[in-house]
Amino acid sequence: MQSISELLKFLTGTVFAAMPRDMLRELVLPHGHVALLSRRRADMIISRVRMVAGLFAVLTPLWIVIDLLVFSWPVTGLLVAGRLVTTVAFGMLAVSFRKSIRMREAYKALAMMFGIPTLFFIYSHPLLSHFDMAGPAAAIAAGYAFLPFVMIAGLAVFPLTATESAVFAMPVLCAEALVALLQLDMLNWSSHLGAFWLLFLIATVAALAGMSQLSFMMSLVRQATHDGLTGCFSRTSGEELLDIQFHIASRSGAPLSVVFLDIDNFKKVNDTYGHDAGDRVLRTMTEKLRSNLRSGDVLLRWGGEEFVILLPNASGATATSAVTRLRDIGLGTRPDGDPVTASFGIAERIADGVTDWHQLVEIADQRMYEAKMAGKNRLVGCADPIQYEAVVNA
Ligand code: GH3
Ligand code: MG
Ligand code: MG
Repeated sequence: MQSISELLKFLTGTVFAAMPRDMLRELVLPHGHVALLSRRRADMIISRVRMVAGLFAVLTPLWIVIDLLVFSWPVTGLLVAGRLVTTVAFGMLAVSFRKSIRMREAYKALAMMFGIPTLFFIYSHPLLSHFDMAGPAAAIAAGYAFLPFVMIAGLAVFPLTATESAVFAMPVLCAEALVALLQLDMLNWSSHLGAFWLLFLIATVAALAGMSQLSFMMSLVRQATHDGLTGCFSRTSGEELLDIQFHIASRSGAPLSVVFLDIDNFKKVNDTYGHDAGDRVLRTMTEKLRSNLRSGDVLLRWGGEEFVILLPNASGATATSAVTRLRDIGLGTRPDGDPVTASFGIAERIADGVTDWHQLVEIADQRMYEAKMAGKNRLVGCADPIQYEAVVNA
């Protein structure tokens, strides 16, 4: 008891205290994960479920040989029947569960993965305890009682939040409790309580292992999807996000705006003050943009000193006022003290009548170019008649 509370104190006091709050929340709750993380997590969970199911589809029937050697009829027949059904279920899960990047599908796969052996346990354990056994048969029968421990420990294989681990451990813990209630006459209460306590401890350790896998995955996904210099989404991950947001907006008929931004005369900063000074300008500008955008907006580095801002649910007019606000706040200063300026082009899914995100970015890029041609430090709005009349001056 004391060692558990010491462990919890250590975890909350040292490990978790050093962790940003958002990250801690994302390790506990499955909500609020960025789409790119959820996609990769779903893909990984489903492929691991398929791998583990495949392994069990092979191991489950192999144990039939042991059952045949140690048990006598009718126990053997009933166990073999149970094992064959379980093998078919695992085999189908391994072979026919489709790959997906949706967490809902990953939950289905996990539910089946844990549901199959839980049902086999509920079926086999009481069956064995109804017959008096001795010698090797008794030892193997006792082994069947370890199935819930294997299942709970198996949670550690998946990158899950604490809540998800608790949800998937619950049916196994309930099955253990059910079996214990059904066999009160067989074993005494203290041994059932001891087994239950051990199961709970293993579940806690497996959940921590799952959370540490998730946290590792979160940092890998972050590294792979973000630009090292500015911390913005990189072009590749940005394209994936554009694709996701475009599909969401098309399905729901919602507006989706894209802003293309290119810093004015940036080469001069590099040429006059050096590359490091140029890097500082890039970092300051992106920090300013990030801290003044809405939480659902996405800033991505398209390349060099070109950026794309993705504004879900924003009409052309909303995007124009957002950009106007950002320009009013300012994009930082150049090493000589002059303000950093940029040229902006805006495109919107509905107003511009586009059918994919490539066109949306292309139109915003063209408008940014028009803004450059018109003298830089300005924005060109989308095809909305009210907006488009104008190249809005600084
Ligand atoms: P314009 O107003 O027409 O956009 O002119 P510009 O000088 O901003 O545009 P140009 O495309 O000629 O120059 C962009 C420069 O950005 C060239 C390149 O050296 C610099 N650049 C690209 N990536 C980085 C980076 O990561 N760090 C720094 N310091 N400079 C970069
Ligand atoms: Mg450029
Ligand atoms: Mg430029």
